[in-house]
Amino acid sequence: MKFDLAYCLSLDEKLSIYDVRDLNFDETQAFDSAREHFQCPNDACRLAFDITNELGTFNAKNVNYVRTPHFKNLPGTRHVEGCPYVSAKASATESDDSREEHFPSELLLSRRQYLRKPADPIVTTDAPRDGSSTSSAVSANEPSTRESAPDKTTVFAHPVECFVSNFDDKDLLKRMPLKIGEHTAPYASFFKKIEYLQDNRGLIYWGKIKQIKDYTQSFRIDFEKKVWFEKRPYSVNVYLSKKLIDTYRKRKAFLEEIKHAIDTEQELYCFFYGVTPELKQVPSKKNPEQTFGVFSANIENLDHFIVRQAPGLDGQ
Ligand SMILES: [Zn+2]
Repeated sequence: MKFDLAYCLSLDEKLSIYDVRDLNFDETQAFDSAREHFQCPNDACRLAFDITNELGTFNAKNVNYVRTPHFKNLPGTRHVEGCPYVSAKASATESDDSREEHFPSELLLSRRQYLRKPADPIVTTDAPRDGSSTSSAVSANEPSTRESAPDKTTVFAHPVECFVSNFDDKDLLKRMPLKIGEHTAPYASFFKKIEYLQDNRGLIYWGKIKQIKDYTQSFRIDFEKKVWFEKRPYSVNVYLSKKLIDTYRKRKAFLEEIKHAIDTEQELYCFFYGVTPELKQVPSKKNPEQTFGVFSANIENLDHFIVRQAPGLDGQ
């Protein structure tokens, strides 16, 4: 079965798989999920076993994933009787892995902060983990505890995966609410097709990519669909400043994502939040004295921008 969260021993926190991916790619964090210990998120269950009773990860380190990332039981993973993570689904087949079932109700715009426990590689298996030990006290600060509430996320990829992997279940997407900042709407309407961006501001806009241009100072992402304004079609694009990418904490992974996007033959989709493309007049290349209109925006926060494959969205 898939786990929405797992307990991470070294951070003494429960993480979603999207938190884990974010940490893996973050060059300012010393974190590698392949070397971490993940355990059952149910405290009673976890404490009943030693640290060798672990969970595994799926797509924790793959930059360009297609199938939904998750935590999973390993062949030897045990749970106590009554653990909610032991269910009929525990023996479900792989097809169960193809959807993100844990919909965060809120995307928090400030990043989650982690405080690592002081290094203590020889954790004895029967050590009490009731929070009374001085070593773990520093990690239990208030905001972090609050923000790690299971229905909230700080990782944009999480709601995007919910939308992409459940795209064929329109009723579900209409039912599940998403809050970002002051705005709350069902997933189905919070995610807005790029061609309808004039309908409402401040949403998550998405669309199929037509091409990506690599310029000296920036990348330009052109969308396939056009926006109709005053009975005329206009192209839509977003710019990614290379300066912004160079100072990004996930620079390497981000460049890998963009490079792959430029080289691949596969259909790709772009999702972004935080800016709304506006109609601008830009000089024509062929005739610089002429201008033409285009809906355009500069991406301001790379944490809220994704280019990815989304087979369920093909044809959109
Ligand atoms: Zn368990």
